[in-house]
Amino acid sequence: MPEVVVVGGGVIGASVAYHLAERGVRDVVVLDAAAHAGAGSTGRATGGFRVQFATAIDVRLSLLSRAKLRRFAEDTGGDCGYDPAGYLWLASDDAELALLRAALAVQRANGIDDAFEIDHDMIARLNPALRRDGVAGATYCPSDGFIRPFGILDGYRRAAERNGARFVWDARVIGFERGHDGSITSVRTERGTFATGAVVNAAGAWAAGVAGLAGAELPVAPLRRQVAATVPTGVLPARMPMTIFARDGFHLRVRDGRALLLLPAAGASDPFDVTVESAWIDTVTRIARERLPCLHDVAIDRAACWAGLYEMSPDGHAIVGRAPGVPNLYFANGASGHGVMHAPALGALVAEIVLDGTATSLDVTALRPDRFASAEPHGARELL
Ligand SMILES: Cc1cc2nc3c(=O)[nH]c(=O)nc-3n(C[C@H](O)[C@H](O)[C@H](O)COP(=O)(O)OP(=O)(O)OC[C@H]3O[C@@H](n4cnc5c(N)ncnc54)[C@H](O)[C@@H]3O)c2cc1C
Repeated sequence: MPEVVVVGGGVIGASVAYHLAERGVRDVVVLDAAAHAGAGSTGRATGGFRVQFATAIDVRLSLLSRAKLRRFAEDTGGDCGYDPAGYLWLASDDAELALLRAALAVQRANGIDDAFEIDHDMIARLNPALRRDGVAGATYCPSDGFIRPFGILDGYRRAAERNGARFVWDARVIGFERGHDGSITSVRTERGTFATGAVVNAAGAWAAGVAGLAGAELPVAPLRRQVAATVPTGVLPARMPMTIFARDGFHLRVRDGRALLLLPAAGASDPFDVTVESAWIDTVTRIARERLPCLHDVAIDRAACWAGLYEMSPDGHAIVGRAPGVPNLYFANGASGHGVMHAPALGALVAEIVLDGTATSLDVTALRPDRFASAEPHGARELL
């Protein structure tokens, strides 16, 4: 009988499995509905990493993750691709600049010493391709940058397997058996039933449905995110910092020789739909060309554009801890679009909660699953 079943073998499930196995749990089974690793949101992420957040909990999750990314090869033998090319946050007016400064103060108060406000000369040096006439100011952190989502998933999976964990593909979870005290005793899948001592829900954008099968409520909703990719181009430097506009969340980076353009938009009418809308591509292309004129003659490669799902919680923060009402079900959910960069930290914290009853590396009170039941207002939201 597995000591722990993890539902979902994306980057977060793999990190949970790795950290449980590393702590000595010999029998960890990861069940995934897909035929192979990376079929969920992890395989569709663009691979940004940042400590430049506006809330203490996200800054601290990033700090814990950054420490783990820096020793990823040593710990797992894998390649997380961490490349500190920086994140450049741009404000277009004083109100946005005030938000960036407030975020900077939160970062400083939580241990970040390399993020700072920069002037126009520095903006020009960091991203010469930008039109700066609409820019009121900016912040920058040189240790932010890029990671390889599949490299992290794969590194954790392989290291977990070396420590005895098993990953079972084509194993959609379709139900749970529960004992007299409400605990889960076994997990039913399309490939048979697994008796277990504990279950971790790491089912990404599909996590609410998985929790519901166990009679637990989990407010996680899918939200489509689209990515427009240009044809391969040399007009932007390969290590251009991720460049983000606080005004509307438009951001861009260069990956594998293409510029990737992102712009938040309302979700599709079917929340699990991941088609890319032609009108959205037109909009994001127009915005990109206005703000970076060198993209004017660079075509979009429509066949290379894609969309995937964020796993949104009501306040945009992860939901971590024991599920209310089901004693041995744990949530590793709701990372709200920050799940790859925070997977190293979230996996370690969930393993601590399962094994020790509480997270010891970080105070995760802000992420507790029952926070939505209280009448208290939710914590501050992120800018993106
Ligand atoms: C376009 C885009 C860009 C992004 N960019 C970034 C970024 O730059 N940085 C960042 O940190 N994050 C980014 N994200 C967010 C990131 O991809 C997610 O937060 C992260 O991948 C979540 O990991 P996960 O393991 O929880 O989910 P997933 O990778 O989706 O894994 C969940 C797994 O659960 C499985 N599953 C579902 N239902 C069941 C079931 N019933 N039974 C068994 N298995 C099941 C699925 O098959 C899937 O493999 C981006 C997302 C998108 C869509």
